[in-house]
Amino acid sequence: MPPLSSYEMVNAYFDEAAQLVRLKDELYEVLKTPYREIDVQVPVRMDNGELRTFRGYRVQHNGARGPYKGGMRYHATADLEEVRALASLMTWKTALLDLPFGGAKGGITCDPTGMSPREVEAMTRRFTLAISHVLGVNRDIPAPDVNTNAQVMAWMMDAYSSRYGYSPAIVTGKPVDLGGAPGREAATGRGVVYVLVAAAKLWGIDLSTARVAIQGFGNVGSWVARELHNGGIAVVALSDVSGGVSHPKGLNVPALLDWASGRRPLCEVKQTGGVDRISNEELLSLECDVLIPAALGEVINEANAERVRASVVVEAANNPTTPEADKIMGDRGIKVVPDVLANAGGVTGSYFEWAQNIQQFRWKEERFNQELEDAMVRAFAATADFADRHGVSLRRAAFAIGIERVARASRLRGYV
Ligand code: GLU
Repeated sequence: MPPLSSYEMVNAYFDEAAQLVRLKDELYEVLKTPYREIDVQVPVRMDNGELRTFRGYRVQHNGARGPYKGGMRYHATADLEEVRALASLMTWKTALLDLPFGGAKGGITCDPTGMSPREVEAMTRRFTLAISHVLGVNRDIPAPDVNTNAQVMAWMMDAYSSRYGYSPAIVTGKPVDLGGAPGREAATGRGVVYVLVAAAKLWGIDLSTARVAIQGFGNVGSWVARELHNGGIAVVALSDVSGGVSHPKGLNVPALLDWASGRRPLCEVKQTGGVDRISNEELLSLECDVLIPAALGEVINEANAERVRASVVVEAANNPTTPEADKIMGDRGIKVVPDVLANAGGVTGSYFEWAQNIQQFRWKEERFNQELEDAMVRAFAATADFADRHGVSLRRAAFAIGIERVARASRLRGYV
């Protein structure tokens, strides 16, 4: 059998949860498949004078509960099938957090690390204008994802505003100077930690003695590491694309954040004071209590799930676990906090930012963080309670809650 695509994997999770909540047969296709998919040409004049043509995508998966919402990913592996998978995850994520949004995702197949800022800007502007007819403050609102950031959002906002008039609420995750919300940049990482703390409380895990390994040192991984360290929780391993470092008693996170802020790869960190080098693959099977994949998808799969030694996995990345690996870990008694719950702090923070843009006011960061914590703790409690009542995994429970909410909205709106 050929390996499942990422979209088929998400649909495998969808199917199991849909059966659990006895979703009507006629609703399966409506909820499972995307509403609209856009695949555009993005020609860019590179710095060397050459014209290169990239492909860009926006997939609007489901809009029954509100405007489409989801990030934009710039990566060599980002293609239509992956974007479809990620768009579907956004539908269940926004529904689980009870945000007034649907689900979408977008991206461009490219390697932005090899591009100049001017090239990334030109690509972003061209892409935004090419899809601008399906975007809108009440239609579809992009946000950052892998290899995109507040600056990319600023260019998107400017390109869109040049055509439709000043529209800060068209994207979230903007720079604070342009109407971004203080706290949004840290929100995904903080949300992961809020959920971990809630899970540890429920499962009787003492985090003050726990060892946490984090794969990924981008926006999400670095904020998770920083927040854990500030909370006195030991981060025993950290990696970026180049590889990583470990220390059985806990790494010096501030020094590593400082190192990475100079765009230096973790594989070049000096090995002093008991610090060891570790590959991304070794990190996944490291002796630790909590494993946090915070980079790309499908990293925990059939080939390595047997070797995971953590007792808790918190999915800060989207779709990091294949269905086969999910089953293997489940059978081994490893508790997995699924992506749609664990990393929902990002889009929840986006909701705060969007709502504030529309009303033209701004919360202080303390208020933002408090509301975020409340939302994450509530969603975790609801998911854990559902899982407990039905005797299913947190993933199945999270999808099931999302599916029920989207199905209800679809019926009430008369879509079906
Ligand atoms: N890219 C983030 C995610 O996967 C955030 C999406 C958003 O804020 O719209 O959840």
